[in-house]
Amino acid sequence: MLSSVMSVKDIELPGEALLRRFDHPGPRYTSYPTADRFVETFDAAAFAARLAGRGEQAAPPPLSVYVHVPFCDKVCFYCACNKVVTRHHERAPEYLRALQSEADLVSGLLTGPRDLEQLHFGGGTPTFLSNAELEQVMAMLTSRFPLADNAECSIEVDPRSTPAEKVRTLAALGFNRMSVGVQDFDPEVQKAVNRLQSFAMTKETIDTARAAGFKSVNLDLIYGLPKQTRASFSNTLDRVLELSPERIALYHYAHLPERFKPQRRIVAAELPPPQEKTQIMLDAISRLAEAGYRYIGMDHFAKDADDLARAQALGRLHRNFQGYSTRPDCDLIGLGVSAISKVGPTYSQNVRELDQYYERLNAGRLPTARGVLLEHDDLLRRAVIMALMCHFHVSKEAIEAAYLIRFDQYFGRELEDLRDFEEAGLVEISTDWISVLPKGKLLVRGIAMVFDRYLRQDQRLRRYSKIV
Ligand code: SF4
Repeated sequence: MLSSVMSVKDIELPGEALLRRFDHPGPRYTSYPTADRFVETFDAAAFAARLAGRGEQAAPPPLSVYVHVPFCDKVCFYCACNKVVTRHHERAPEYLRALQSEADLVSGLLTGPRDLEQLHFGGGTPTFLSNAELEQVMAMLTSRFPLADNAECSIEVDPRSTPAEKVRTLAALGFNRMSVGVQDFDPEVQKAVNRLQSFAMTKETIDTARAAGFKSVNLDLIYGLPKQTRASFSNTLDRVLELSPERIALYHYAHLPERFKPQRRIVAAELPPPQEKTQIMLDAISRLAEAGYRYIGMDHFAKDADDLARAQALGRLHRNFQGYSTRPDCDLIGLGVSAISKVGPTYSQNVRELDQYYERLNAGRLPTARGVLLEHDDLLRRAVIMALMCHFHVSKEAIEAAYLIRFDQYFGRELEDLRDFEEAGLVEISTDWISVLPKGKLLVRGIAMVFDRYLRQDQRLRRYSKIV
């Protein structure tokens, strides 16, 4: 049985009834508007104009670059990422040539010095690349976007393709943070999701990283996988805590086999029943909190001394496509297939298919597929949603001053919709603030969704279609 309320360090865990009532599927708000709202009319020419305009500014913000490496050696059955599963490592050079063409086009438009403050390699599996290829791509990038002295360079690492010598190469190349994919240490669970990765292998990667000077290690876990039980996940957590990562991401597995082909190979009958799955999550959060991890928000936990927890305590946490971030005003350039950029009040996303990506770049064109130019309403709603997601409160006065609105008037309907959350003890609404209470922190996404204009429009449309 679930207890109704369990208190841990900085959150109060809601009971099953509240979770059932308020935890609905929704966006993770790594952007607002969310990527499914991007439109094709925002194309390569619109993105190029935006980049060029930024270059002409007197003091443009620093840069953050994301590089997407789509290749993976093997498929994990739970995967919902944009990736290409192949054992043919000889496919990498063609991709790296295309990345270079894209970097040339972008850096050519961004005239003027722009320090690269944040670099992130994600995938797919960035460690699919050989040591020589990693050296080549880093040299290519840093010659076009000079690295700032205090740059944060992070990479997603698969221990199965990252022997000690590759970890040392990464450190020598300037990477100082890594995110290690684990998901679960239980051999039965690993078999059921086709990801066999021993504890010893993972430990070697992390130990080598620390010895080589990496400042922070994040570990990714997933609850709700086949064959998982409360007991088995508790054992996984024992091992995770032994590794003592600075950050932990605890993701929820959503079984959507009709949308994500690899998930069709998961045996639905082996998935934990909903109540057990919820309890696995609640147990895990209690364990992490007891072990001294702070709940940052949306699946993320960090030790108090970690930069993320410190940024949150100082009110300087931000959210972008890689999750939470400590660097605020960067223009984000996404390189690679399906990568997303954020430049000024715009988002733009590259084509998702490799063939199209190569075709566009071979023709000397940016591979932008779609994007969006944010309007005043989008910008102010983004500010509200990001304040909730990062800090669990919104200052009405700060939004009024920045966007020249009367908060209570502009968001009259939203405030009405928040009454349910307020009555359930999840938020507090005062004259000056909206504050997510400790019991509401796990449900912050649902609270943020109230301010999402696009979701509100969808709901109105659904109601309308039911009536007709
Ligand atoms: S989960 Fe990661 S490593 Fe596994 S197939 Fe998907 S992208 Fe590749």
